[in-house]
Amino acid sequence: MRLFRAREVADSVFDVDYDRLWERDVRALLFDLDNTLGRRGSRSLGDEARQLLHALEGRGFKVGILTNRKRGAASDLAGELAKEFTVLDVARKPHRAGFARVLAVLGETPAAAAMIGDRRLTDILGANRSSIYSIRVRGFRR
Ligand SMILES: [Mg+2]
Repeated sequence: MRLFRAREVADSVFDVDYDRLWERDVRALLFDLDNTLGRRGSRSLGDEARQLLHALEGRGFKVGILTNRKRGAASDLAGELAKEFTVLDVARKPHRAGFARVLAVLGETPAAAAMIGDRRLTDILGANRSSIYSIRVRGFRR
């Protein structure tokens, strides 16, 4: 297995084929934050990303956000998002513990999960080592 290679690549979170993931029995979507749901270091989540996450939840997906950012940091986006979504901050990706923890919170197994993120060294490696379907996005674009 190529541990740094994503199972699929999409231009951005807005270009992932979520219908196909659902058909493949994916029920939990795990998202990276920086350069995935928003620009790197962004202080707020854009309306389009927020709407996307709510739309996915509306379709029955469970949504989790795994970020290596720390809640309560200077710009507290992780803390703000935690009021609305399941967020694991200081996720220490690519370590597997964070992936396991957020899946436990969501009540789903690795086989029913997909991780969507921009970095091979954290998001993709961590997902692959956790037997979670990995999707690399080229970056945040809208
Ligand atoms: Mg990122």
